[in-house]
Amino acid sequence: MERTLSIIKPDGVAKGLIGEVIKRFESADLKIAAMKMIHMSKKEAEGFYAVHQGKAFYGSLTDFMSAGPCVVMILEGLQAIAKNRELMGATNPKDALPGTIRREFASNIERNIVHGSDAPETAVFEIGYFFSALEICG
Ligand code: UDP
Ligand code: MG
Repeated sequence: MERTLSIIKPDGVAKGLIGEVIKRFESADLKIAAMKMIHMSKKEAEGFYAVHQGKAFYGSLTDFMSAGPCVVMILEGLQAIAKNRELMGATNPKDALPGTIRREFASNIERNIVHGSDAPETAVFEIGYFFSALEICG
């Protein structure tokens, strides 16, 4: 059993895709162990994406992520990190496989609907960034 952090980004919320994305997770046997809607400040988005500090897209990405509400979730299941990344598809929707969330719904490489942790260590950091122990069920 593994946990991963998922975010439905501001474009996914604005496009009315919360239910669509959650349906895909539940259909793939990923259980929601915690969930809330938040609107990050620019500073909070910068802290979350600190690993990308210095990259050309960092300023625009953190503007986008703080421009509207997100849904943040902890997903739990067998190989949850890899399974979530598979459902999401590649970062650039042009490279994402047909049927994946990003291929079906993303506008471009930045506005790509969802975030998912990429490794066990990043999942621990990202879950702790948004959730306290008391908020996690499971
Ligand atoms: N991103 C971007 N331009 C790029 C690469 C990434 O705007 O050239 C954004 C995009 O929203 C992506 C996020 O930065 O989801 C984090 O990038 P990462 O490489 O970690 O991709 P992910 O893990 O989300 O697939
Ligand atoms: Mg990443």
